[in-house]
Amino acid sequence: AKARGKGCYEIFDASMQGDLKKLLQLENDLRHGIDRAEFVLYYQPIVCLKTNTVTGFEALVRWQHPERGFISPAQFIPVAEETGLIVPLGWWILYAACEQIARWQAQFPDDEPLKISVNLSGRQFLQADLVEQIERIIKQTGLATQGLKLEITESVVMQNAETAVKMLERLKTLGIQLSVDDFGTGYSSLSYLRRFPVDTLKIDRSFIHEIDTNSEQLEIVRTIVLMAHSLGMDAIAEGVENARQLKILRDLDCDYVQGYLFSKPVNSEMAETFLMRKLNA
Ligand code: C2E
Ligand code: CA
Ligand code: CA
Ligand code: CA
Repeated sequence: AKARGKGCYEIFDASMQGDLKKLLQLENDLRHGIDRAEFVLYYQPIVCLKTNTVTGFEALVRWQHPERGFISPAQFIPVAEETGLIVPLGWWILYAACEQIARWQAQFPDDEPLKISVNLSGRQFLQADLVEQIERIIKQTGLATQGLKLEITESVVMQNAETAVKMLERLKTLGIQLSVDDFGTGYSSLSYLRRFPVDTLKIDRSFIHEIDTNSEQLEIVRTIVLMAHSLGMDAIAEGVENARQLKILRDLDCDYVQGYLFSKPVNSEMAETFLMRKLNA
């Protein structure tokens, strides 16, 4: 770069400054967005392959920015994580999700109460007061702990494996369900996986995407399902988009599925129509 002279740096600096400005703006907007309640939860149904029914939902946050419109979580979650704003936002998400599922449990009673899966960011997972905060939210919303499942990504648990084991054990004693998200994308050590008191392995969408066209992917998914079962865990597949993928997952004895084939994430009113159908079935 030096050989090309000073101009090069200037161009570089200008674009860097542009990015930085955008980032600072986003951070500022995030801060206000939390205060102004611009966030809303969407819900994606989770289907049990044994009973063919909706047994719960994954809560996914959406940001309706007053000027810029809809902003995808793939864009703002990393910034929220970077700035630490994910912590207050994350508590809001957890509270709203628990409150909603407690209401649905009362409205749509079932022998097997509905579950809500909530994503926990790495930053949140490492908060010293995590367990206390969750206890508080559960108490305030009146949700039975078995109704809450926390999704923590494989990379977060593996990067801090020793701490993670301790934290997961504390969460487990509260009676909460635990799931390893994006499973297969990180580098899980089998010896740790055995020690994690988790209920579910959630197979990453990237493996499901080609499961019907790529035999290598198929074998990876087969192995993950077998591994989950031999560790006494359930397997859930995300990103199921077509009937061929579903058929394969059934044949592999996968326990739960989630994806556009059944439904995209929807707002709470739409989610209720799924539950209404279930009640009337
Ligand atoms: P994730 O936890 O892996 O969530 C699954 C993503 O896959 C969601 O994207 C969902 O809409 C999408 N998806 C579900 N089924 C299909 C399908 O069949 N095909 C395709 N192509 N996509 C499907 P979304 O809602 O945009 O969220 C993206 C990521 O943002 C999430 O990935 C998660 O890492 C993060 N995120 C979303 N909501 C929250 C939240 O409440 N808290 C935290 N900490 N992170 C969140
Ligand atoms: Ca029933
Ligand atoms: Ca997830
Ligand atoms: Ca994923």
